Amino acid sequence: MGAAIRHFTAIGPGEQVFTVNIERDFRYEPYRDFLVCAHCDWSPSLLTTRRTDTMAWEHLADAHDAAGGRTDRENESFRTARWVMLPLCSVLIIALLVFLQS
Ligand SMILES: [Zn+2]
Repeated sequence: MGAAIRHFTAIGPGEQVFTVNIERDFRYEPYRDFLVCAHCDWSPSLLTTRRTDTMAWEHLADAHDAAGGRTDRENESFRTARWVMLPLCSVLIIALLVFLQS
């Protein structure tokens, strides 16, 4: 449903890579983020003061015995989208200011 915006991966027994994703659901206003495990049904409530990455690492270590080779990376296309959107928004704001002054 949501778009995966960030991946937490860790290596478990037998060099298997386990992944927990942060999925952002844009159907909500403001958007909502979900923590979703790619290997089981784990999807905790994020209505907590605990850090998302801590929860992801804990789950990978506790449920899947994956504590090695941790990586934490943003989704490539999501990062690209942000780099495109940022200048685009600036240009729009400048255009708007110019328009308002004329
Ligand atoms: Zn899991």
